[in-house]
Amino acid sequence: MISFSVSALEKAPVHRHGTLPEEFLDLAPDDLFQTAGEVDYDLNAALVSGGVLISGRMSVPLKSTCGRCLKEMQFTLAAEKLHLFMEITDAMEIVEADEELRAELLLNLPMNPLCRPDCRGLCPECGCDLNEKICRCETGSSTLQESPWSALDGLDL
Ligand SMILES: [Zn+2]
Ligand SMILES: [Zn+2]
Repeated sequence: MISFSVSALEKAPVHRHGTLPEEFLDLAPDDLFQTAGEVDYDLNAALVSGGVLISGRMSVPLKSTCGRCLKEMQFTLAAEKLHLFMEITDAMEIVEADEELRAELLLNLPMNPLCRPDCRGLCPECGCDLNEKICRCETGSSTLQESPWSALDGLDL
């Protein structure tokens, strides 16, 4: 759990770093994303008017499936420039930031994970992995890159 004592913050800003168990992210077992390691964090907390400002970075390795070629892939989910303001009410002694930090980190999840930005995906006709080979299927209105061989088809050799 990541929490900060208000009375400690009243004396000086607090720097905190370490790791949290994978469960911190609380992903469902059937989620598109699964954790592949611990959550790394490096945070500063400082008292500001009306609350506490938490800044720093968090990251966690994740596993997912490429949205184009369907291969399993691993990547690092990171919030590099995290800024979180949490209000402090009068009687508050401990500021618990787990939920908010988790939400900040998850904001950085990609909508459509790709094994690499230029992944060519699978051929909609034969299902072959177009990163590995080029098939001769007519892919119709496909937006995929044209096969380098298609130019040769028009040539009378
Ligand atoms: Zn891919
Ligand atoms: Zn094909």
